[in-house]
Amino acid sequence: MRMQKDLLPKGILHEGLKYEKGMGVIMDQLYDIIRQNQELWDLYTRKEEYTSQRRDRYDCFRYAYSTHQEVRKPLVSRYLLDHGYKIEYPNNSSFAVCLTHDVDEIYPPPIHSLLSSISCIRNLDFDRFKNQLFWKFRDKVKSPYWNFNEIMELEEKYGAKSTFFFIATNVDIRRFRYNIEDLKSELGSIVDKGWEVGLHGGYYAFNNLGEILREKDRLEKVLGRKVTGYRNHYLRFKVPDSWKLLAQAEFKYDTTLGYQDTVGFRNGMCHPFRPVDISNDEVVPLDIMEIPLILMDGTLFNSFKNFNDAWEITKILIDTVESSKGVLTINWHSNNFNCPFKEEWSKLYKMILEYCYAKNAWMTTGDAIYHHYIGRL
Ligand SMILES: [Zn+2]
Repeated sequence: MRMQKDLLPKGILHEGLKYEKGMGVIMDQLYDIIRQNQELWDLYTRKEEYTSQRRDRYDCFRYAYSTHQEVRKPLVSRYLLDHGYKIEYPNNSSFAVCLTHDVDEIYPPPIHSLLSSISCIRNLDFDRFKNQLFWKFRDKVKSPYWNFNEIMELEEKYGAKSTFFFIATNVDIRRFRYNIEDLKSELGSIVDKGWEVGLHGGYYAFNNLGEILREKDRLEKVLGRKVTGYRNHYLRFKVPDSWKLLAQAEFKYDTTLGYQDTVGFRNGMCHPFRPVDISNDEVVPLDIMEIPLILMDGTLFNSFKNFNDAWEITKILIDTVESSKGVLTINWHSNNFNCPFKEEWSKLYKMILEYCYAKNAWMTTGDAIYHHYIGRL
């Protein structure tokens, strides 16, 4: 390993480090290392997003607008590793997988019911057809997307846990989603089992502190405890303002920072990190952790229409994060399980669990990753 001793803080990043200093001291020194390379510092801080006027119709910065074109390589993380950054995980795991599910739908919208019915008929699966179409006449908990236990049981087989991000607003760009109050007992059962509940900030929340606080309060009232994690719907995010608002709302971590239009490493990191605000030519560390999003189901299947291609790129990402001892954050929407016209999507998720299990990855919630890293940043 190449070491530039003059860049290393006194003993802090060397082997045998005791991480008792807490978030801040160590991260300051990581900043110093990254800043030795201006190009990587600009990538790490997402400098181009401060000045770019380009946004898509959802007001998101896309990879297509970026001047950085090596999104599949965690360049900043690798630079830190080359300069002495070390991280370990429980049970001698060489890397971690942060499993998450945005809960966008609890009840299939009409178009989903139609596509699922067609798919069931094609496969001559009439029992499933009945279930997809007639659940409304029985009980709302019979909805095909009321599937949290199913997802948790699947993950449990691989010794994994995950985070479910729930919507807690009635306003949305497309349609009303669900009342979080209807899910009170589900939320309780998710946290009782050791999985995590976080806030899936509404479409209009990412730049509005009042809205973030209202949604957080609503979810916490139903859950009966504080939430620590956040991801915004549609991955809407403004660097660095959204981090500042989330820190003000006392979230501990965010995991929105990934691209809608491609999979990979938006700021060159495959490790959780402490973001900075570089407005006004100053470097101001922000009081929140980012667990960057790397692999999202819809983005993957939109970019790679062929299942085998999607699986190949997924394996490359897993192998890349493994060799960098990082955290692979995955977002697999809960409504893509038990969805007959997207069978390949849940199949690929299962293949990810199998592949990572065989590699002895630590597969866990955002909150567990946060607590593991908090003393290490
Ligand atoms: Zn969403």
